[in-house]
Amino acid sequence: SSPESPPILPPFDYEPRPYNGMSADEIFQKRKSFLGPSLFHYYQKPLNIVEGKMQYLFDDSGRRYLDAFAGIVTVSCGHCHPDIVNAVVEQTKLLQHTTTIYLHHAIVEFAEALASKMPGNLKVVYFVNSGTEANELAMMMARLYSGNLSMIALRNAYHGGSAGTIGLTALNTWKYPLPQGEIHHVVNPDPYRGVFGSDAALYAKELQDHIDYGTPGKIAGFIAETIQGVGGAVELAPGYLKLVYDIVRKAGGVCIADEVQSGFGRTGSHYWGFETQGVIPDIVTMAKGIGNGLPLGAVVTTPEIAQVMAQKIQFNTFGGNPVCSAGGLAVLKVLDKEKRQIHCADVGSHLIERLRSLQKNHEIIGDVRGQGLMVGVELVTDKEKKTPAKVETGVLFEKLKDLGVLVGKGGLHGNVFRIKPPMCFTKADADFLVDALDYAISGM
Ligand code: PLP
Repeated sequence: SSPESPPILPPFDYEPRPYNGMSADEIFQKRKSFLGPSLFHYYQKPLNIVEGKMQYLFDDSGRRYLDAFAGIVTVSCGHCHPDIVNAVVEQTKLLQHTTTIYLHHAIVEFAEALASKMPGNLKVVYFVNSGTEANELAMMMARLYSGNLSMIALRNAYHGGSAGTIGLTALNTWKYPLPQGEIHHVVNPDPYRGVFGSDAALYAKELQDHIDYGTPGKIAGFIAETIQGVGGAVELAPGYLKLVYDIVRKAGGVCIADEVQSGFGRTGSHYWGFETQGVIPDIVTMAKGIGNGLPLGAVVTTPEIAQVMAQKIQFNTFGGNPVCSAGGLAVLKVLDKEKRQIHCADVGSHLIERLRSLQKNHEIIGDVRGQGLMVGVELVTDKEKKTPAKVETGVLFEKLKDLGVLVGKGGLHGNVFRIKPPMCFTKADADFLVDALDYAISGM
């Protein structure tokens, strides 16, 4: 039966400050004048978000929204989490920046804490400022270490927007026609849309073909998000990474896991996304959730691979800046203290279960997938043919906002809702989100 009335946001004891600043329209006009054009999607009536508290955002009128997208999967612990604010403020008062010429305790404390979260011999940390930079560095390491040029990435991947990483990215909506230089995109092991369904061996064989027919037989490396983010919360076919890592290593390449979205316990079952496939990469890249909103990224690798960086000066002005390091360390502590990984598993399975039962009532929900609080809902106009419901997704996206829920959109056709909230998101929030989606679809 369809819901009669719109759901009500779970109670939350917090008063946002009164706002007397620029209106949404004014900001939007100035944004058009002073910031460059982009196809990036805005709401039809742009939202002016002025305050955030944990899993909620407030607009200029004081209206509260459930943030189910976390600033593109970035606010891991919650907006303005007090422990992180405190760590950043205290470090800011003392010393904002120096240079890597001097020692600073925050960077080594953070590096040690991060290394302790890694399996195997992944113990050497390089700090950068974003996911793009992390992947640039990882690709450079792979090429230097292997002595080869060819990189392999998955179709439907997003690894960054710089001149180098845009070559790894394989979604036409994000790509610029820049020279790619020896980057091969293999068929995506997507159980829902992929040509080989969930058959990991067939996908792995196709990758082997790329090496055999498209490269000198030796490659620099392979990079994959362990659950694709921008591409629409796509889980890789079970067993895929194990088969592929073997093939890549035999061809002289290193295996890079892009954990920019899937790391830090978000999947619930594991701290890192690659663990869901039972593999240990040679290089791991991370950003977004690592800083709860601070500009921070990292590359973690083995001492052996790190050795190639000793040939030159490895330098990044802001990488490991004291304020970001203090904030990043606080993030790791909060995730442990608040047992966020277990929480993600618990709330995520409740959310996925509820979405799957909603799927039974609504023809438009083609697929519900994900793990923990990294969830995708793919909308289709025809369940058999899996025709992307592009227009309908846009309409529902707006309706959800009107009901007080902010989600992300993704996938090549923009027909996947991405639900990746701050990790403090509760079961009551999940219920509200699902009820809002039910109400919005029922009213179509
Ligand atoms: N890798 C993945 C999986 C991402 O989702 C993103 C950004 O969305 C990046 C890399 C690039 O990160 P950044 O935007 O911080 O440069």
